[in-house]
Amino acid sequence: MKLVISRLLGCLGLLCSLIVPASALNREAFTITKYDLEVRLEPEQQRLGARGKITLRNDSGQPQKVVALQISSSLSWRSIRVDGKSVQFVSQPYTSDIDHTGALSEAIVTLPLEIKPKDSVEVEIGYEGVIPLDATRLVRIGVPEGIAKHTSWDQISPWFTAVRGAGYVAWYPITTESADFSEGNSLFEVVDRWKAREAASEFKARVTMSRESNEEPPLLICSPGRDSIIEQISRAQLVSASCSWTRLGTVTPTFAMANYQYQSKPPFYLFSLTGHEAGVSTYSNALEPAMKFVSGWFGQPRAPVAIADFADPNSAPFESGTLLMASMAAEDSKLAGTNLVHELVHSAVPSLRPWVYEGLAHFAEAMYRQQQGGREAALDFLGLHRAAFLDSEKEVAAVQNNVGQPLVSTFDETYYRSKAAYVWWMLRDMVGDDALKQAIGKYRAEDDKDPKYVERLIEAAAKRDLGWFFDDWVYQDRGLPDFRVQSAHPWKTEKGMQIVTVTLENLGSVGAEVPFTILFEGGEITKRIEVRARSTATTRVELPGTSGEVKVSEIRVNDGSVPEIDLTNNVFRISAP
Ligand SMILES: [Zn+2]
Repeated sequence: MKLVISRLLGCLGLLCSLIVPASALNREAFTITKYDLEVRLEPEQQRLGARGKITLRNDSGQPQKVVALQISSSLSWRSIRVDGKSVQFVSQPYTSDIDHTGALSEAIVTLPLEIKPKDSVEVEIGYEGVIPLDATRLVRIGVPEGIAKHTSWDQISPWFTAVRGAGYVAWYPITTESADFSEGNSLFEVVDRWKAREAASEFKARVTMSRESNEEPPLLICSPGRDSIIEQISRAQLVSASCSWTRLGTVTPTFAMANYQYQSKPPFYLFSLTGHEAGVSTYSNALEPAMKFVSGWFGQPRAPVAIADFADPNSAPFESGTLLMASMAAEDSKLAGTNLVHELVHSAVPSLRPWVYEGLAHFAEAMYRQQQGGREAALDFLGLHRAAFLDSEKEVAAVQNNVGQPLVSTFDETYYRSKAAYVWWMLRDMVGDDALKQAIGKYRAEDDKDPKYVERLIEAAAKRDLGWFFDDWVYQDRGLPDFRVQSAHPWKTEKGMQIVTVTLENLGSVGAEVPFTILFEGGEITKRIEVRARSTATTRVELPGTSGEVKVSEIRVNDGSVPEIDLTNNVFRISAP
């Protein structure tokens, strides 16, 4: 089936190439630096109609006269104008897994004038169509439809509407090369590249829905807070919400509309559906302890954050900026607690650096786990994050001089969420709670201009040089460490004190301060040691309260708090003499 589709599209593409030479088309030449859209929803028809203006900047090195504007394949281009005049464009389907339908409606636009590198052009656009539930891009790589629909839940419908932006549904124009789910990381690479290009873009969309009814109107939400506005004109109701960001950062513009019940304890907003009252009270009960924890570590939450419910309880949760979509059908108090902590950290520590913004929120979840279930529970939680970036770090480590994705600038979610959570955790283990709290307390998004800003804050609070650590983990990506115990020798001092000399080796290209534990008859002792990249480090450990002959049985390096390539070589057994 896929072959037929791509062949068909290939044909259409060939027809179009008669008009626009394919070689001349650089789909990622233009960045859309500004959106100003009016979006009308008609849920009964699953329809969306949009008009507005976008600003395109030529980020390529060559002058450009042709631009490819893309929207979801279930939408169609109606008009494209420059300087008040309609411009010539050819509309064609373009296969790409960046959209849930697995294809885009692409308008190949010939601009009236050539746009020089770094110059911009404002374009007036109009498009419309439907956004029904569609899991095509997942189903065609073999995901069973029933499961695919829980992941690919975007739709406009009379009972529940929720639509995510680029990477899910192109409900606003994008400019990308084709992405393919079946080709390794192609989809994620295209999406990450898109996000990085649009991070500084301004986005404004006013979403509205009008209807003739006396019933209670639905709530329409976009960015958090109760920004849904309801106007009533005789019997007709107009519901609107504004989606606006001065800089998109990692945000995926998303809107949702349903008969939400709404409650708030500013800055926190909860939008839930009828029948999920028990889940809602789970969240209400979890709010106070979460608030207390976050205030103690990250300062007072201020900016509005929201959690919105799903109609389908199996829908996969999704987060964008300060809006979290998660089902409230289940009464999972642990999950409610960590979800709240995550959102409240966003509220307390705004940042335009993804690794700071999301990294701190995931790190806070791990600390909250520790508060409830001890260090091991927290490390188990972090362990789930390790799987997310382990494979790509293995690839980086395997190729010499491979420049991976430095945390400080990455737009790869698995890095700025999962790897960053570990980096904050390691920093906490290294400098202690007080110093890290102090540094976070001084953090100001508006002052975070220099890549070394965070390093300097922590160094000042901890009075310790952390340059090597930031170099290995934040400014560069050279993979992960790989620790092993090279040797361990128990011996006795003249006074009868039992000592163990331990040498640890780091086979990886990234250094870390790592904990190791000595297990001996009647107890265990844990110490920490710095082992730089491709080096060894030796230390002597005095066993506590022992003055006689003690049998040392085992040395274990890394309790799981440092993400490393290989965890199978971490235990060293000492056989009895
Ligand atoms: Zn987050």
